[in-house]
Amino acid sequence: MNKIEHIGIAVKDLDASNRLFSKLLGKPHYKIEEVASEGVNTSFFQVGENKIELLEATKPDSPIAKFIEKKGEGIHHIAFDVTDIHAEIARLKDEGFIVLNEIPKKGADNKLVAFLHPKSTNGVLIELCQEIKE
Ligand code: ZN
Repeated sequence: MNKIEHIGIAVKDLDASNRLFSKLLGKPHYKIEEVASEGVNTSFFQVGENKIELLEATKPDSPIAKFIEKKGEGIHHIAFDVTDIHAEIARLKDEGFIVLNEIPKKGADNKLVAFLHPKSTNGVLIELCQEIKE
């Protein structure tokens, strides 16, 4: 794994949180993107070489809605940048981690993504992401 690519934070109201985080970070978000397959609206802030991803549910059965129901707003996942997501998935499976989607899917911000079940990672949802090169 190369670096922490972003930290995902579950929020109830993306507009309000965009205003809050732009005050906190001293800069506006650089993009808003809906990932319909996951039922989320996302926004991204660049902080040095890392990013903050805010996630808002777009429907009641969205994973983000369920997360907020259970735990409230807060850190939802940590995403690591990887060079070869298929190789990393195979390596982590071999190491005994539970990979939630063995076939990487298209995530927000031009990435191929896969998730590890928090049960196998001390309660932290881990995202692997590989930039899609055009
Ligand atoms: Zn993410």
